[in-house]
Amino acid sequence: RYYLQRIAQSSHLNAFLEVYEKEALEKAAELDARIRKGEPVGPLAGVVVGNKDVICYKGHKVSAASRILEGFTSLYSATAIERLLAADAIIIGSLNCDEFAMGSTNENSSYGPVLNALDNSRVPGGSSGGSAVAVQAGLCQVSLGSDTGGSVRQPADFCGIVGLKPTYGRISRYGLIAYASSFDQIGIFGRNIADVASVLQVIAGPDEYDSTVAQKEIPDYQAALVHNKTYKFAYLKDALHHEGLDAEMREGFSGFFEELEAAGNTVTATDFAYLDYIVPAYYVLTTAEASSNLSRFDGVKYGHRTTQKDLDLTDFYKKSRSEGFGKEVKRRILLGTFVLSAGYYDAYYTKAQQVRRLVVDKLSQILSEYDAILMPTVPSTAFKIGEKTEDPIAMYLADIYTVLANLAGVPAISVPLRRHSNGMPFGVQIITKQFDEASLLNIADHVM
Ligand code: GLN
Repeated sequence: RYYLQRIAQSSHLNAFLEVYEKEALEKAAELDARIRKGEPVGPLAGVVVGNKDVICYKGHKVSAASRILEGFTSLYSATAIERLLAADAIIIGSLNCDEFAMGSTNENSSYGPVLNALDNSRVPGGSSGGSAVAVQAGLCQVSLGSDTGGSVRQPADFCGIVGLKPTYGRISRYGLIAYASSFDQIGIFGRNIADVASVLQVIAGPDEYDSTVAQKEIPDYQAALVHNKTYKFAYLKDALHHEGLDAEMREGFSGFFEELEAAGNTVTATDFAYLDYIVPAYYVLTTAEASSNLSRFDGVKYGHRTTQKDLDLTDFYKKSRSEGFGKEVKRRILLGTFVLSAGYYDAYYTKAQQVRRLVVDKLSQILSEYDAILMPTVPSTAFKIGEKTEDPIAMYLADIYTVLANLAGVPAISVPLRRHSNGMPFGVQIITKQFDEASLLNIADHVM
C-alpha cells in the first residue's frame, strides 16, 4: 500500500505505464497469510519490483514503449519474471522506457518522457528511464531494466542509484524483447549493492529457453560482500583524459583514485587505444542486429496494423510499420539495413566485428592483470530535457563509456560517487572479467 500510494503521488514523473494494484495487494495478502501460518516463503518475499516494458509478463501488456505493440498482451513470462515470482517478489507494474530500448534519455517513448525526480527539468537517462526513476523516487525497491549499450548503468548514474549489467549470458534473455541480441542483457536497479545482489541471485543462471546463458554455477553473492582485501585497479588513460568528460567530474575521479590509494589499493593508468572506435562499432553492430530483430513487427502477427484498405501485402507491411515505429527506431532500421547491404557489408559490418574482437582481446588482457577497471559511467551529468534531441550523433557519443562492456560482454556496474556543483549526481563505473559478478559486487559495495 505504501508503494502504491507513492506511485499515485508521483504520476507526474511518468515512470509507470501500468500499475498492477489489485494483483500486488492480493499477493501481499497471500504472503502475509502464509507468514502468519508459519509457512515458508521465497527469498524475495514481499520485495516490490518494477519491470521495464520490454520484459514479458504473462497476461500483462508489453509494448516496448512503441505504438507498434499497442494493446499487445504477453503470452508468456520472461524467465527473469518467472524466477522473481517463484521467489515471492511482488511485481508492481510496468515501467516507461525508450522505444525498443533505443535511446539515452527516455524521450523516444511513445508514452512521453520520464522526469528525473531530483530535477524535473532533466532527463532520467535511458533507455530504462522509468526503471531508474521508480527506484530513485522510492516507488518500488528494485527494478529490472535491459542494457544493450548502457541502458541500466547510464540512467542509474543520472539518477544517483546503483545499476548492474551482468555478464552477457548470466541472465536468460527469454522473454526480453530483442534490440541487439548479441549485446542485450537484463540488468538490475537498486539503492544499494545488497539489494541488487539478492535479485541477481534469484534471476541468474542456466535456462533451457536461452542457449546463450552460461551453464556456470551461481556463487553466493551476499557472502561475497565481505571487505577483507585491497585491490589492483586500472583506469583507461584515454577515457579519463577524453575531451568530452566534464572537467569537474574528471577532478572528482582523480580525488576518488587518491582516496582508494590512501586506503591501500593501487590505481594504475593503462592504455586502451580503441576508445574513438567503440561508439561507431557499437552503432553499426546494434543497428544491424536491430534491423533484423525488428522485421518481425509486420502488422500481421502483433500489435498495430494499419486500417487503410486496398493495399497489397508489401504496402500493408510498409504502412503498418511506418505508422507503428517512432523516428529513432526507423533511423536505426535504416542504418542497420544499410550497413548490412551488399557492397557496404565489409566496409561497415565486418569492420565493426573486427573492432569488437580487438576490444574483447584488449579488455581481457587488462582484466587478467587487474582486479577491475574504473571509469566514468557517462561523460556528463543528466541532460536537460530536449537538450540533445535534435542531434542524434551527440546523443550517441555520450554512450562512449558504457558501450565498452556490451561490446566485450563483461559485467559492469554504476555506483553513485559524488554530487556535481549543478546539484546532480554522477557515478563511477566498475568493470570486472566475465562471470565475476561476485568481485564486481564486492568492489562496488566497498567503494560505495
Ligand atoms: N543509449 C544506447 C542506445 O541508444 C543504449 C541503449 C540500451 O542499452 N538499450 O543504443
